Amino acid sequence: MTENSSSTSREACEIRRTCSGDDPDRKHCWVCFATEDDDRQAAWVRPCRCRGTTKWVHQQCLQRWIDEKQKGNANSPVSCPQCSTEYIIIYPKLGSTVYVLDLVDRLVYKVCPFVAAGLVVGSIYWTAVTYGAVTVMQVLGHKEGLNVMEQADPLFLLIGLPTIPITLILGKMIRWEDYVLRVWRKHSPHLPLLGHLFPEGAYRVLAPPDDIPAFSGPLSATRVMCGAMILPTVATICGKMMFNSVQSNLQRTILGGIAFIVLKGAIKLYFKQQNYYRRLNRCIVDFDEGVALRQQQQQQEDEDEDDEAVELLQEVASVGAGESEASISVSESDDNEAAA
Ligand SMILES: [Zn+2]
Ligand SMILES: [Zn+2]
Repeated sequence: MTENSSSTSREACEIRRTCSGDDPDRKHCWVCFATEDDDRQAAWVRPCRCRGTTKWVHQQCLQRWIDEKQKGNANSPVSCPQCSTEYIIIYPKLGSTVYVLDLVDRLVYKVCPFVAAGLVVGSIYWTAVTYGAVTVMQVLGHKEGLNVMEQADPLFLLIGLPTIPITLILGKMIRWEDYVLRVWRKHSPHLPLLGHLFPEGAYRVLAPPDDIPAFSGPLSATRVMCGAMILPTVATICGKMMFNSVQSNLQRTILGGIAFIVLKGAIKLYFKQQNYYRRLNRCIVDFDEGVALRQQQQQQEDEDEDDEAVELLQEVASVGAGESEASISVSESDDNEAAA
């Protein structure tokens, strides 16, 4: 109420001023700052609810300002920057031809985003269909694959082929290694064979690893995609390499694929388990002690490298020249250049 009353009193004040005539509502364009006296011919307009100095504006100035705001789209609404009143813009009546053209223009403007989205989806779909077809020919063999696809119902192909890459990607997202690892870590103390394979004795296994974070990092979309897309090719190659005696292309590829997945899984499991043990046995040392340790480690590595270099040089020298001379020259200096 208080806000209202203050604004109404201001309005009242202004009205009184205009009526009394001592300060006649002098027109003042808020765009170009010119007054009525500057240009007597100019058309003025009062397009919004504004009062006071921003009440009046040149018709031409406002037109220019609206053009700037609309940026070529004649139908977009424009409002007063002060009072946010939408300007009422009246266009001359359209002729029927222009009306139809305008309608078409608007329709095209609205429809285009959907068409573009459709094109993108369509391209992805057809890429999936093509990939599916190529995979079928790869797995079954060129001729047999073509035969199967020719005999199949087209509708079945249009639905079935794109499901091949989708299934591959979904399959790739199943992280079966994590389940195996979980079971393994739970039961590994009771399995003597695995204990031999992964000598936990070499590590000092600390408290039960309940608080160790997730088994695998977050899925990488590109990695999943690449892995899934390349699987049929890898399966075919593995099948040809390992199961050449199998006659059927399909069986051979499936066997190859299973062999590849199991082999890769085993390597991954080994890698993860080793990292897991490292994680269990890591510790954070005091800073001073840590710096000293690191220096010591560095020195050790340097010495090892030197030793290796010397051994290599000795071998090369003993093969290249007389043994006695070479061994003397190497033992005298560790430098690469001297030996060379
Ligand atoms: Zn103006
Ligand atoms: Zn206004």
